Amino acid sequence: TGAIEIDDVAKVYDPDGDHVVAVEDMNLDIEANEFITILGPSGCGKSTVMECVAGYLEPTEGEVRVDGTRVNGPDPSRGVVFQANRLFPWLTIAENVRFGPRMRSEVDNERVNGLIKQMGLDGFEDSYPHELSGGMQQRAELARLFANDPDIMLMDEPFSGLDAMTKELMQEALLEVWENESRTVIFITHDVEEAIFLADRVVVMSARPGRAKDVLDVDLERP
Ligand code: ADP
Ligand code: ADP
Repeated sequence: TGAIEIDDVAKVYDPDGDHVVAVEDMNLDIEANEFITILGPSGCGKSTVMECVAGYLEPTEGEVRVDGTRVNGPDPSRGVVFQANRLFPWLTIAENVRFGPRMRSEVDNERVNGLIKQMGLDGFEDSYPHELSGGMQQRAELARLFANDPDIMLMDEPFSGLDAMTKELMQEALLEVWENESRTVIFITHDVEEAIFLADRVVVMSARPGRAKDVLDVDLERP
């Protein structure tokens, strides 16, 4: 599970007023368990597409299907990490990481603690998000994402702002989770090196108006 079809998707913000065409004529098929990165200049519509896949936004035209079913709203099987921090500020780090599993009454404390440790957050279990640095909050968000065990991981520049070494550790942690547990990943970045390092396939979006957005689609073979 976890196949995604982006089928003739267009998204226009404020269609009656400013009429911003964020995405148009976007078509992309992503296989279950595939890891794709989306690369493109700022403002080309990367986040918009991902929010359509997440179900937070409804396309103006076309549709997104997951395993053949039209997306119409968020679903826990699709986990999202945004650039801007979205930890629950009123919950501690450990409570944030446990949140998803607890909603499903299947908390595995060993796994939760393991993830907190893997992300270098041991000792901060009982801290609140505002007590941590930005980089630490990003790592906690990753731990929360992994703990949720989604079929699909949608990640919008999750490592931007991390120092080079932490970024490398996070990339390795992500690849490990992806390789060990079958998941589909869409990872947005504007770091070319990161895009090529992580992905099976890199999709490049154009920012030029009137151009179909998925202009280039590069398959990278793994040995
Ligand atoms: P990217 O993620 O590639 O930077 P976005 O999807 O954020 O691109 O934005 C695509 C275009 O849509 C940009 O021109 C942006 O200014 C515009 N846009 C994004 N969100 C909104 C919004 N809520 N209302 C109006 N315009 C928006
Ligand atoms: P990161 O390494 O996540 O990018 P920083 O460079 O700000 O974040 O922090 C470096 C290290 O300093 C952290 O890994 C952590 O051990 C410690 N640290 C940062 N902020 C705090 C804080 N608010 N309280 C305690 N320790 C902190």
